[in-house]
Amino acid sequence: MDKTEVLVIGSGPAGLKGALGAAEQGAKVTLVERDPFLGGQLVKQTHMFFGSKEQYASERGFKIAEKLTAAVEEHSAIRVLKEAAALGYYDDGVVTLELKGRVLPVSFNTMIMATGAQENTLMFPNCDLPGIYGAGAVQTLMNVYGVLPGKRVAMLGAGNIGVIVSYQLLQAGVEVPAIIEAAPDIGAYHVHASKVRRMGVPIYTSHTVVSAHGKDFLEKITVAELSDSWQPVPGTERELDVDVLCIAVGLTPLTEILFQAGCEMAYIPELGGHVPRRSAVLETSVPNIFVAGDVSGIEEASAAMVEGTIAGLKAALNLGYGRDSYEEKIAAAHRELASLRKGPTGEKIRSGLDHLEQAGEVRQ
Ligand SMILES: Cc1cc2nc3c(=O)[nH]c(=O)nc-3n(C[C@H](O)[C@H](O)[C@H](O)COP(=O)(O)OP(=O)(O)OC[C@H]3O[C@@H](n4cnc5c(N)ncnc54)[C@H](O)[C@@H]3O)c2cc1C
Repeated sequence: MDKTEVLVIGSGPAGLKGALGAAEQGAKVTLVERDPFLGGQLVKQTHMFFGSKEQYASERGFKIAEKLTAAVEEHSAIRVLKEAAALGYYDDGVVTLELKGRVLPVSFNTMIMATGAQENTLMFPNCDLPGIYGAGAVQTLMNVYGVLPGKRVAMLGAGNIGVIVSYQLLQAGVEVPAIIEAAPDIGAYHVHASKVRRMGVPIYTSHTVVSAHGKDFLEKITVAELSDSWQPVPGTERELDVDVLCIAVGLTPLTEILFQAGCEMAYIPELGGHVPRRSAVLETSVPNIFVAGDVSGIEEASAAMVEGTIAGLKAALNLGYGRDSYEEKIAAAHRELASLRKGPTGEKIRSGLDHLEQAGEVRQ
């Protein structure tokens, strides 16, 4: 049985900041990551971030990952386990890891779940043909491994991910004949949408993919217009020759271990599905289990980092560390989170959090 004071699962922006937040207060931390590298989604983000200096504005995601990874790996109170997947939760604070082909049980005093999210997909005839990818997979292929997914790629979904990955495909010299979006409006920031439009990519709103075609690989897709009740309008179908279809239709929080641990959950569509009920400092209904980042509701890396800090500070406080500086640091982090969530871009998350609060507040 391995032992740690603070167990952090997942090394995206939330987990990296969670580990640093707890370690800087004096706690001993074990950070586990199933991938061979740290950084989560950040490692594939080649575009520049928005926000303020504290939120790494104008820096590229993979550069932010490099900085945070270096800080974590240099910290003497943080032990990092890579290629270590958390498999399950057992009573009395034990999580099992799969590490180098064996199962390692780890007991912890406090835990921060920062597992992020998985991509949603869509069902239509032949949706399993080779050549149909999730946007995250395309981003990993291109930006982490330097492999182009195809020559002519249609994008399904005009949210931030769909539009940003389309832009990255264009930068890599790939042809993007269309972005197809079921909703009547584009979900992405307009600055990104304008950029791809200026590069000649049409965005078809109120449209969807109704089928895919090809013998061994994807060769073409059929696209149709959607009615006000989101049904394909007969007679509007047209075919598009493509060798890749990239699906970017949202994310769902990776909450399995929270369910196993018995955390109270609520279904909040604005946050991406089932999310844990938690206190203002991100402690779930199970004492000493915290959440941060996309697992607590789909948002952005900037917010994930601040949530990681909050969870790290409180996880350390529960162990008796950092009493003197806690209140001041938590107040500063809450101010930062509020500023990230203000304005029209924060409307969805604010509404989701209001609905979560109505499901009942967790007090720890
Ligand atoms: C294309 C794209 C563009 C984006 N652009 C921006 C942007 O410009 N600005 C911004 O703020 N945000 C952006 N985001 C959103 C941002 O990347 C995410 O909100 C953020 O990465 C969430 O951080 P996280 O730490 O919660 O999860 P993730 O970054 O997803 O990290 C989760 C980590 O947990 C690991 N993990 C999962 N399960 C286990 C397990 N069982 N055991 C061990 N490890 C596990 C995963 O391997 C992963 O490394 C973008 C996202 C995408 C996809």
